[in-house]
Amino acid sequence: MQTSFSAAQLADPAMAVSESVIRKCVHCGFCTATCPTYVLLGDELDSPRGRIYLMKDMLENSREPTAEVVKHVDRCLSCLACMTTCPSGVNYMHLVDHARAYVEQRYRRPWRERFFRAVLAWVLPYPWRFRLALKLARWTRFLAPAVRAMPGMQPLAAMFALAPDQVPAPPAASSLPVAHAKGRVVLLQGCAEPVLKPDVRAATVRLLNRAGYDVTFANGEVCCGALVHHMGREDESLAAARRNVDAWTVQGDVTAIVITASGCGTTIKDYGFMLRNNPVYAAKAARVSALAKDISELLAEIELPPARKHRLRVAYHAACSLQHGQKVTDIPARLLTDVGFVVKTPAEAHLCCGSAGTYNILQPVIAAQLGDRKAANLARLNTDVIATGNIGCAVQIGRRAGVPVVHTVELLDWATGGPPPTALSHLK
Ligand code: SF4
Ligand code: SF4
Repeated sequence: MQTSFSAAQLADPAMAVSESVIRKCVHCGFCTATCPTYVLLGDELDSPRGRIYLMKDMLENSREPTAEVVKHVDRCLSCLACMTTCPSGVNYMHLVDHARAYVEQRYRRPWRERFFRAVLAWVLPYPWRFRLALKLARWTRFLAPAVRAMPGMQPLAAMFALAPDQVPAPPAASSLPVAHAKGRVVLLQGCAEPVLKPDVRAATVRLLNRAGYDVTFANGEVCCGALVHHMGREDESLAAARRNVDAWTVQGDVTAIVITASGCGTTIKDYGFMLRNNPVYAAKAARVSALAKDISELLAEIELPPARKHRLRVAYHAACSLQHGQKVTDIPARLLTDVGFVVKTPAEAHLCCGSAGTYNILQPVIAAQLGDRKAANLARLNTDVIATGNIGCAVQIGRRAGVPVVHTVELLDWATGGPPPTALSHLK
């Protein structure tokens, strides 16, 4: 696509990256077929190609963001299906991340949007605040029908709906000393996952210890920053990235930085890009990104303990952040198959389930449609359990599925000598 950014505009490194991304787009439209919002809404402006045009026009002409442009950018899930489909290698992620930061700096949203976004940014990245918020949501859930009927309060209603009936106890898992360890990994502690599903961390530590790896939790680590990054809150996401780079760099030589929530993994693998212009952090961040691995990637590289076969039928839901963001496609299903599970994949596996970080709170209508569609496709497989590698997907699908939804690592831990996942404990 031809562009006409001025030399002064291109002096801004973020603008220069966006310009190079836009130039790669040949407006072929292949990406529209796999874009969830275009599939649902059928509006070109809710397709990757349409959004690229809107972002180009806004950035190239240094325009103030309009409500119309913001609406279509906000509706993007950042699922990155378009990047998988695009034959020209358009890095839509970097373009939309820049556009979101640009919007955040220049656009004054209606007060309700500002309020909800501020609350999410203040609560979600902090486990103790999030845990408290979930408890509050449980106690005040009786207000949900009244809230749902109030104009502009749908995000609050969505928060009520997403709150679990029980808030689990914080994770207690600690790594056991491993004799003659084959290696040592840093495990991301995360923010939402340990609050909603602490069993994932416990299963990961058990499995890695049995496989001969020491597991370290880094002091000073914070939320990966993905949640605020996708809201355009650039200063906060970069601050989180710097804190984590510091916390992990002092760990010295490690085999990998392991992540069990693929939404976090996509962002951590991008720290090298996010901090590329920071002379103090650029090299350290690039090293951190190179060490970052989804748990399934690491498990595919190391020798797992012997498996006892459970012939359970498992539907594997590929999180967008894993299949599109990190291009980890076949590994999780292959690992599950190798330990004896009968793995099936649903129709429209490339389409997002609608979770997408805070999307199912900020865009509850589209998110619900995508969630229902995903749950229906998974239900058609008639399996005993659904496995996925991202906590957001597990919550979004778990509300709609008729069978338990577990993390892939919980099944692998079980198959190789660990206890069954809590949701399957009746199968001991
Ligand atoms: S598939 Fe790629 S090149 Fe084609 S319109 Fe979409 S983003 Fe542009
Ligand atoms: S990231 Fe997903 S929702 Fe956004 S334009 Fe690409 S395919 Fe569509």
